[in-house]
Amino acid sequence: MTDVMDKVETKQQYINGEWVASASGKTLAVENPANGKVIAHVPASDSEDVDRAAESAATAFATWQHTTPQDRSGMMLKLADAIEARADEIGRLESLNTGKPVGVAIDEVPVVVDNLRFFAGAGRVLEGKAANEYIAGRTSLIRRGPVGVVASIAPWNYPIMMAGWKIGPALMAGNTVVLKPSARTPLTALVLGEIAGEIFPPGVLNVITGTGAAIGDALVGHEKVGMISVTGDTETGKHIARTAANRVKRLHLELGGKAPVVVFDDADMEAVIDNLKTFSYWNSGQDCTAPCRVITGPKIHDRFVADLAAAVKTIKWGDPAEGDDIEMGSLIAKAQADKVEGMVDRARSGAEIVTGGHRPNRPGAYFEPTVIAGPGQNSEIVQDEVFGPVVTVQRFSDEDQAIAWANDVRFGLAASVWTADIGRAMRVAKALQFGTVWVNDHFTLVSEMPHGGFKESGYGKDQSMYAIEDYTVVKHVMLKI
Ligand code: NAD
Repeated sequence: MTDVMDKVETKQQYINGEWVASASGKTLAVENPANGKVIAHVPASDSEDVDRAAESAATAFATWQHTTPQDRSGMMLKLADAIEARADEIGRLESLNTGKPVGVAIDEVPVVVDNLRFFAGAGRVLEGKAANEYIAGRTSLIRRGPVGVVASIAPWNYPIMMAGWKIGPALMAGNTVVLKPSARTPLTALVLGEIAGEIFPPGVLNVITGTGAAIGDALVGHEKVGMISVTGDTETGKHIARTAANRVKRLHLELGGKAPVVVFDDADMEAVIDNLKTFSYWNSGQDCTAPCRVITGPKIHDRFVADLAAAVKTIKWGDPAEGDDIEMGSLIAKAQADKVEGMVDRARSGAEIVTGGHRPNRPGAYFEPTVIAGPGQNSEIVQDEVFGPVVTVQRFSDEDQAIAWANDVRFGLAASVWTADIGRAMRVAKALQFGTVWVNDHFTLVSEMPHGGFKESGYGKDQSMYAIEDYTVVKHVMLKI
């Protein structure tokens, strides 16, 4: 990986088509969480930088909104091609900045590329309803237009992927964007800015770096920002919603999750365990849809716990630099490992740690792949998002209890039901209050289908036509004829 970043550089941010330092000249250190070493410095922005970025996006919007869908689509396709051409470099940089395995990070890039290509097409077929005379002598028609300047606020768990999910629909709908990556993971967003700078007019996409604490309120509250799209923690989403309420701004909130995995006694247990072994620990469990809360049938529970623990013990984890066979890397930061450790420790009194449960004594932000059996429904480990490599397993007594427990959390992003009974699968899928429900699967997403939450997981959809609609406003035009 030394070819990607072999010296600690001080990066600039991308505002109005130019690479600039922060107005104050201050910088933030960016770390590789797999070993705790500083790998770059980026501008530590403040409200002056936000002002420049928002003004630049607002100026660009005046002309960008009048480009045709075909023009925007051509640029979006070029962006996708250019990212694809640099997939290996982007993936390696992402791995270095997040601690995720190199192969996994490289494999995420085609997902971003496909998403941008989808939106390049979707933006050309966006439509309002057909015109009609709903009152004699007057013709009504519906126009869908852009909102204006969108503040796209991205998290650290999938930095380039989340940035792509946000800018694709926003730009194709005719908006301009100020993208703010997480201060922990700004590096691939800056590469995105570099690539976009060769394709889009100045100001259409700006990338600013800084902490949420330093620039969040200034960005969300800026008078030139019309919409805020944030993927992040539920508490961050609530804070942003409160700030945005002052000017009644549009919001798109992709927040936390606590996905249940409802496994009936007739399920293909091997298939469930295969899925969990991979996807519960994918990205070290730092995934909002991670299958982390298993609720099993009474007959299979004990064997399920034993088989899952045996499978999880085989996961090869460590510093991605140790080799291509590393399946699970580090967490994003020591603070995140502290959080996971605290939650697992507090779970010990009411449940059994079947495997894992410890923080290894080594540099970097690690936590062992963990399985916890028998926690109570009201316990913190069942109710709150761990965002680490931890799976809980509970035993339900009947279908009603399984559904009640699955729904009994404040989140509603994703869930799965595993059974050989198609009638039960349909019944339970209908009853689960989550934005995505898989049957005999968990984790698969596609660009054509919406992803987004219910309840405290937020509102608004990523991916699909629903996402692009979220980045538009509907206007009724009535003509007296
Ligand atoms: P976070 O809330 O700490 O940060 C998210 C972003 O918000 C960062 O860019 C951060 O700088 C910014 N931010 C923080 N405070 C802000 C403020 N006051 N104003 C404006 N911006 C502010 O989240 P994270 O820790 O980076 O990401 C993990 C969280 O994201 C988890 O809760 C996870 O479930 C969620 N997530 C959700 C989805 C989804 O699709 N629903 C996808 C990925 C991650």
